[in-house]
Amino acid sequence: MLAVSLAAYAQPRRVQTLPDTLLASPTRPVPQGRVHPLTGQQQATYRLPSPVAWQGSVEATARAFLRQEAVRFGWRAPDRTLQLQWLRATPQAAHVRFQQTLNGVPIWGRYVQLNLNREGRPTLVLNGYDPRLEAWAHRLDSLPRLSASAALASARHELKQPEAPASDPMLMVWPELPPRLVWHFVLWPQDQPEEWAVFVDAHSGGLVAVWNQATHVQPPKSVVSPSPAFPLPVGLVTGEGHVFDPDPLATAGMPYGGAYADNNDADTPELNAERRAVSLLEITQGQDGLYRLEGPYVRITGNLPNVADAAYTPPAEPVPDAFHYTRGDPRFEAVMAYYHIDFSQRYLQQLAIGTPVQAAPLPVNPRGLTTDNSMYYPSAKAIAFGTGGVDDAEDAAVIWHEYWHALLEDMAPGLLNTNEGKALHEGWADYWAATYARWLAETGAVRRTDWDLLFRWDSGDGTIWEGRRIAFEGSYPQDTNCDREDTPQSPCNPYRDGLLWAKVLMEIQDVLGKAITDRLAVAAALYLSPPATFRDAAQALLQADMDYYGGAHVSLLVERLGARGLVDPASFPVVVRHDPTRDVTVTPTALIVRTYATARRDSIVRVQAFYLQNGQFVPSAFFQPLSDSLFEGQIPWDGMPGQIFYYLEAETATGWQLRQPLQAPDQTFAVAIGHVAETDALRVAQANAGWAQSGTQWRIQRPQTTPATLVLLPLELARNAQRLRLHLHHAFHFGHACNGLLEGSTDGGYSWQVLLPEGASSAEQPFGEASPPEGLWHTFDLSSYAGLTLWLRASFRCSSEVPEAFWTLEALRLEQASLDPELELQRQTRLWPPFPNPFRTTLTLAYTLSRTQQVQLVVYNLLGRELVRLVDALQPEGTYAVTFQPTGLAAGVYWVRLLTEDAQQTVSVVYRP
Ligand SMILES: [Zn+2]
Repeated sequence: MLAVSLAAYAQPRRVQTLPDTLLASPTRPVPQGRVHPLTGQQQATYRLPSPVAWQGSVEATARAFLRQEAVRFGWRAPDRTLQLQWLRATPQAAHVRFQQTLNGVPIWGRYVQLNLNREGRPTLVLNGYDPRLEAWAHRLDSLPRLSASAALASARHELKQPEAPASDPMLMVWPELPPRLVWHFVLWPQDQPEEWAVFVDAHSGGLVAVWNQATHVQPPKSVVSPSPAFPLPVGLVTGEGHVFDPDPLATAGMPYGGAYADNNDADTPELNAERRAVSLLEITQGQDGLYRLEGPYVRITGNLPNVADAAYTPPAEPVPDAFHYTRGDPRFEAVMAYYHIDFSQRYLQQLAIGTPVQAAPLPVNPRGLTTDNSMYYPSAKAIAFGTGGVDDAEDAAVIWHEYWHALLEDMAPGLLNTNEGKALHEGWADYWAATYARWLAETGAVRRTDWDLLFRWDSGDGTIWEGRRIAFEGSYPQDTNCDREDTPQSPCNPYRDGLLWAKVLMEIQDVLGKAITDRLAVAAALYLSPPATFRDAAQALLQADMDYYGGAHVSLLVERLGARGLVDPASFPVVVRHDPTRDVTVTPTALIVRTYATARRDSIVRVQAFYLQNGQFVPSAFFQPLSDSLFEGQIPWDGMPGQIFYYLEAETATGWQLRQPLQAPDQTFAVAIGHVAETDALRVAQANAGWAQSGTQWRIQRPQTTPATLVLLPLELARNAQRLRLHLHHAFHFGHACNGLLEGSTDGGYSWQVLLPEGASSAEQPFGEASPPEGLWHTFDLSSYAGLTLWLRASFRCSSEVPEAFWTLEALRLEQASLDPELELQRQTRLWPPFPNPFRTTLTLAYTLSRTQQVQLVVYNLLGRELVRLVDALQPEGTYAVTFQPTGLAAGVYWVRLLTEDAQQTVSVVYRP
């Protein structure tokens, strides 16, 4: 029964065994959930036809639901047998977990998890309740004959661990038939770095079960407090050090080998050149004046509490910015672990899940194991990294992977206790590591773009051990086996099965992008409790989308998850069809909107439009049914020309929600009234240091104390435009200390004024402190600038260092609308005032052409000698910008001349290097 390996990131070297009763509970999928194949008891329900009335609090509502649905789910006397274990409420949903009890004693591993949406309506229910146990209530003697200390002594003796530290024993019921009263505790063996879950019969003293790394020692108190488990360190400062990010092969663009090989942890110039200097946030100064890598989320230690890890001396420095070690230095792994765990946690916070996750400092021994493996200890809540092969903590993928185990155990405690739960753990951890690697690759931060190959450095590109590729052929359950009985012929390999989950999340990311997919992937964990299946996890993803995004991505999720056998596409019943060119009628005061909405085996209870007004999507009144499937409603209209943006939302009786277009509000329907022109306004004339382009977006990430500006090409605004609006889609985190502003100038850039978006709550910080991770839209009314040329710039500044601050401009569209048949644009050929003038390094020269023609743009010195010809080409009409960076020129005055077929213009510029 004794097992000897832990959940680790690497390939399993020895099989971890759990008692047979816990490996995979018998289950059979049905259209909206799954049931026990013999008893027919509902084990999971994904959509509920019978809502329960709100009872004033989450717990009371959940309790009312338990009573109302007791028969369907097999709950005997739920008020007595189900004990509230924890409750987690976010602005989007509430998650309540109950533990089954017998004679008031908690039963190990038997939970009911109830999830409620923000209206308090129960949605996804996972039911691990075993109704057969209750029949034994009168026969179970719940007073232990053996004391806790005697049970501990007996286990220490039998396991030959006389000195092993242990957690406080807890009285529980062991869930077999007949049930047994047991003392449960965690024991940390002294001769190996493991964590054993131990169960001792509380009457006879016999050992009932022992395995490593299986459950919580002390289940959390009845209500989880979001505050950290112990006080934050004081005297926090920002330090500095060197890390690999994510690994030296990725940044060097090299395969493993030669100078880019482990070479027994030796320093080489090539490897050390791949280190990057980074900020180490909120590290601690101790009583002795030395700085240590101990912060709000991670604490580097040389001795994990209780665990028999290898001793390690954590770095301590007299100044905070001295953590610059070479990769051969054993202190390098400490900086790696600190930086990447801290970063991972801060990124998770940006995803705005609405509840803290693993918010306490996690003890980490960066060189705690001598094997080529790394471990997470759920009860000790700690991580040890191995030093066999390449040091594990030299590879960010290993760190991100291990840290996910800690995050997931905090969100869905106990998931590790079944084979399928272990596979979900591993797959999710691989996804978390890969989403970081993918982001680095797709933003051009690294040279190697094979982000789907995980643990490149640690595995020596697959030469030390096979590494792992985010790839999976086939689907669930045909091509997985952790969901069925574990036999020698078909043992569960959680790493392999887990790749199905990692892969399908990446397939979703291909379409939805990183921010939305990461947010859904993290939020989904809150909906689960053991024993959870892959299909439960898929439903948690769908429910998270309905709770966080109103179901905006449900259709896409169903398609991708369905292709992998994780949901039944036929169980997704809602269809909404709408064609704005055919189904909309404009009246003087409103748009009359019709749409089809149908639900198979279900009925539509609500159809509504959400339309853009003052930068916000506002709900319309409920649509009225014209027939079984045809609905009609109104969107108010102010009679002005322009575009009206809207999306539709339908909801069924069982709680399915669907939007049309499917990716609303990122995509909307648009109805144009009058003559409407749309222009891409995000065309950059000059970007200051800090701004960088990635695809069509512009992004600034480094905190700036001087404003970093992004100047756009000038916009010519039609004289007869009655509606002039700018639509900005952007994502940002400003916090208190930073701010981003959109400014406009009508005098060629001499003076600027802040543009306030519609619905701005404050003129000082018009966009607020942070956007949702996927960004949002802001609209600016530019009607007062009609007939003028408008320069726009985005400026970003911070009053102090805010490491997580960023601003990404994703799209900027100019909408000009008129009831006249044409927009009167005055596009004259001209050279705009150069800026900045005088200039130190870079001069931007913008010009406009009224028609296609031959163009020359030339810089002369004061004597009229041509110095450089910046443009000499045939160009179509439009506005252009060219930058001039002089080399070897003396300070002084120069001439710039624009020569075209219909104009010639010369201006002077002052160069002051
Ligand atoms: Zn793992």
